[in-house]
Amino acid sequence: MVRVVIVGAGPAGGFSAYLLAKAGHDVQVFEEHATIGEPVACTGVITGDVMARRLQLPKELIVNKIAKARIIAPNDEFIEVKLKNDIIIDRAGLDRHISQMAKDAGAKYYMNNRFENFENVKNKGKKIVVAVKDKTKNEIKKNETDYVIGADGPISSVAKSAGLFGSRQFYSGIQVTIPVENDNTIDFYPSEDGIAWLVPENEKVARVGIAARKEANSYFRKFITAVVGEGFEKKIMGWQAGPIPLYDPKLKSTTKDGKVLLVGDAATMVKAPTLGGINQGLIGAEAVAAAITENKNYEGLWKKKMGTDLYLSLLMRKAMERFNNNEYNQLVATFKKEKNRAILESYDRDEPRKFALKLLLKEPKLILLATKAWF
Ligand SMILES: Cc1cc2nc3c(=O)[nH]c(=O)nc-3n(C[C@H](O)[C@H](O)[C@H](O)COP(=O)(O)OP(=O)(O)OC[C@H]3O[C@@H](n4cnc5c(N)ncnc54)[C@H](O)[C@@H]3O)c2cc1C
Repeated sequence: MVRVVIVGAGPAGGFSAYLLAKAGHDVQVFEEHATIGEPVACTGVITGDVMARRLQLPKELIVNKIAKARIIAPNDEFIEVKLKNDIIIDRAGLDRHISQMAKDAGAKYYMNNRFENFENVKNKGKKIVVAVKDKTKNEIKKNETDYVIGADGPISSVAKSAGLFGSRQFYSGIQVTIPVENDNTIDFYPSEDGIAWLVPENEKVARVGIAARKEANSYFRKFITAVVGEGFEKKIMGWQAGPIPLYDPKLKSTTKDGKVLLVGDAATMVKAPTLGGINQGLIGAEAVAAAITENKNYEGLWKKKMGTDLYLSLLMRKAMERFNNNEYNQLVATFKKEKNRAILESYDRDEPRKFALKLLLKEPKLILLATKAWF
């Protein structure tokens, strides 16, 4: 049995805590907020079968099931795609559910406790000493531990303190929950400004937002005004905003001695085209548990599972960042062709490698478009 300190009670931290506690380790989770899962910075779109398999998700956390998506070009042409198994979850509820699994397995949770820094991260062979601030008592506590898991999200203090932050880059995500009539279809609007979406909670309320590299506020105002109309501010039921890291393949996700491990957004495990990271954080958590319990190479484990897919999705996103609106129009026109739409419908967003190959074989012209966007 080893002692593990986990920083952050999001999905990546909670699932790591569950797996490690289940394997018999002494697990402590420190979370800087008073309530697990809040504030929410997420749309909550996930693929149902993956989640159900990993987490036995209770039905009451499923806010909506969606059978269709539209990808809408800047010229308003769109393609409609059938979705296989997409669900919209209560994101705060998901975090609470995973944390409860971890607590039931024996993990101890300390809320309102913020990781400050390492006292001795480079002292080879010795226990790591972690300074945590108890915000309720306004006191710094020092904790000795064998391992530290940085599951503290995109701006990870653990990564900074361990010298693993690198020069990661971010999208700004801005989203509101707002009343808007809709036909229970997810709408994606890729454009040269970034990506925007409307994700229904039901036929009268949706999660509406954008992610952009620059000028996110003005893009958000422009988009929400187009969808909801002037005076949208008065209708807002809730805000969900936050930075979204771009996967950085050069980043190290562990210190040389393997005692500090980053997982989830803290390790930039986000699939770049859609900027989703929940499933990737869960896969990362499985690698964390196997690395510590079976003494295996952490980075090797998670990269084997999703390294290629994360890298490919990063290339897709980088290519798309160079598209102008006209090229987005062309892209949607290409996908409108029946043979390509079928491929899009069979696309598992977590595994772009299968999709990219099939598509390029059917539509070699796309290589030209991608190449043009790339250079
Ligand atoms: C607007 C928006 C929409 C999104 N939509 C989707 C989507 O639809 N589907 C999807 O899969 N992904 C989506 N994402 C991405 C997704 O939210 C993240 O990938 C996911 O939350 C990462 O989980 P995590 O556990 O790694 O980190 P987080 O969920 O960020 O959890 C980190 C935790 O660490 C805590 N913490 C931070 N610093 C400290 C500290 N110093 N000490 C103690 N605790 C600390 C935080 O309070 C938090 O609880 C979206 C993101 C945004 C911003």
